[in-house]
Amino acid sequence: MIIYNIENAPFIQEMCDITDKLWAKGWAERNGGNISYLLKEEEVAPYLNVNDIKSETEMPIPLPELKNKIFLVSGSGKYFRNVIKNPADNLVIIRISSDGKKYQKLWGLVNGGNPTSELASHLKCHAVRLSQDPEHRVIFHTHATSTIAMTFIHDLDEKSFTKTLWQQITECAIVFPDGVGIVPWMPAGTIDLGLESAKKMEYCRIVIWAHHGIMGAGSNIDDAFGLVETVDKAAEIYLKAASVTTGIKQSITTEELKDLAKVFNLTLRDGIL
Ligand code: 13P
Ligand code: ZN
Repeated sequence: MIIYNIENAPFIQEMCDITDKLWAKGWAERNGGNISYLLKEEEVAPYLNVNDIKSETEMPIPLPELKNKIFLVSGSGKYFRNVIKNPADNLVIIRISSDGKKYQKLWGLVNGGNPTSELASHLKCHAVRLSQDPEHRVIFHTHATSTIAMTFIHDLDEKSFTKTLWQQITECAIVFPDGVGIVPWMPAGTIDLGLESAKKMEYCRIVIWAHHGIMGAGSNIDDAFGLVETVDKAAEIYLKAASVTTGIKQSITTEELKDLAKVFNLTLRDGIL
């Protein structure tokens, strides 16, 4: 029995809050960016009859690993700055069918539309992260400004890119000891982009899409956002330091990163230091 108004549900409120913050950061121009949030049936049930299927659509790629899972997803072409004003118009709740071949719309997109065009990337990345971490719940993609800018001036080898990021702020290696993955430029919204991103998510939670944006994974919205924020802050510092004409005089050294790993008992990704 549905007893509460879904717009008051914590997961809708969280989605309104994060989309608003991403827009305020300047990372969600127009319809830039998309989020998907794995919901537990018991947290949805007080707000929604999960057996009332509004429509069914073929999945971009079949994913039987995700059968019966429920996701709150941003709509394609929807502006993050509008989510807070009208969540039911901009978001959608979908459930994956029991054979993993279709997604079923349960709520949202009341004025029409589809889930994000990056659905293949999101769902494939969820499947991979869940196989690594049962606590995993959130994938988000955003057009993080400094990270995108850094993909124009730094080489795109993901190990050297990771090391440069670790060298910008002491906390970086602590926040993302697995480093970052980098996918070279590819057209947006394609299954290939999803498959390439998911390969990276097997060993790290941050995937940078060259000249496009960043994908982050986390056990909740704060976790995924914190990760992306940290990477983008490091990229911002790198760009600021790299742009001064006096040149860079010093940075955190390889030995210092090794010391940090000892103090914090970190397992830093192999082959970077
Ligand atoms: P959507 O509006 O379809 O989510 O696309 C935005 C985007 O950032 C594509 O990469
Ligand atoms: Zn994008």
